[in-house]
Amino acid sequence: TALLEIKDLHAQVEEQEILKGLSLTVNPGEVHAIMGPNGSGKSTLSYVLAGKDDYEVTGGEVALQGEDLLEMEPDERAAAGVFLAFQYPVEIPGVATMTFLRTALNAQRKARGEAELSTPEFMRLVREKADKLGVSQEMLKRPVNTGFSGGEKKRAEILQMSVLEPRLCILDETDSGLDIDALRIVADGVNALRSPDRGMVVITHYQRLLDYIVPDIVHVMSRGRIVRTGGPELAKELEASGYAAYTEAA
Ligand code: ADP
Ligand code: MG
Ligand code: MG
Repeated sequence: TALLEIKDLHAQVEEQEILKGLSLTVNPGEVHAIMGPNGSGKSTLSYVLAGKDDYEVTGGEVALQGEDLLEMEPDERAAAGVFLAFQYPVEIPGVATMTFLRTALNAQRKARGEAELSTPEFMRLVREKADKLGVSQEMLKRPVNTGFSGGEKKRAEILQMSVLEPRLCILDETDSGLDIDALRIVADGVNALRSPDRGMVVITHYQRLLDYIVPDIVHVMSRGRIVRTGGPELAKELEASGYAAYTEAA
């Protein structure tokens, strides 16, 4: 079975159809990039997969390892191994990053019927992951995202991803605010988490990110559908030609 199988997905926001028959299959071990012009519905796709309110699915299917993802609540999606990077960019004053990670991990374990990790077990796990990603102990004590630089926010996000060990990672790298350092952090994190039993979908407007994350498969999204699929060379082609061919098509 595919890790993620989206068939003819239609979704609307405020009674306006944004996704218009989108199909996508991600197999374990694959890294997919979804590129496309602004307004093509890339972020809408990630919100629909997250189960965000106000995003109404009006047709099609989404299966996660053969199970209907659209029937699951957001927390059930997380327990099933779906990680959506943009879900937690918020600042949470007063909650240390370490505590936040522990809450997220324990919620996931509880939903899976697994016991909570003891404090020493959890500390060991986080220290090991944090060291690998260059996250300082000092940063772990600071409140979530509060006063974090753009690069630190990305590091915290990637750390969360590596602690939760998701089966499917979806990263929506929105079109603003990613400087070259942040791009590198995201890319290093994604590359470190590549594994034969994990799939990743990296959504980006920027070809530059794909200089660091070399995807297996590249898709172009336009007007709510995947309109082209190719290998890494497709990203290079888009860098040269831009998206004009995709925005002007009827
Ligand atoms: P992308 O991420 O590819 O730039 P989006 O998914 O953000 O595209 O947006 C796709 C379309 O959906 C745009 O036309 C946008 O104006 C519209 N849209 C997105 N979110 C909303 C919303 N909450 N309310 C109304 N329209 C929205
Ligand atoms: Mg946009
Ligand atoms: Mg977007």
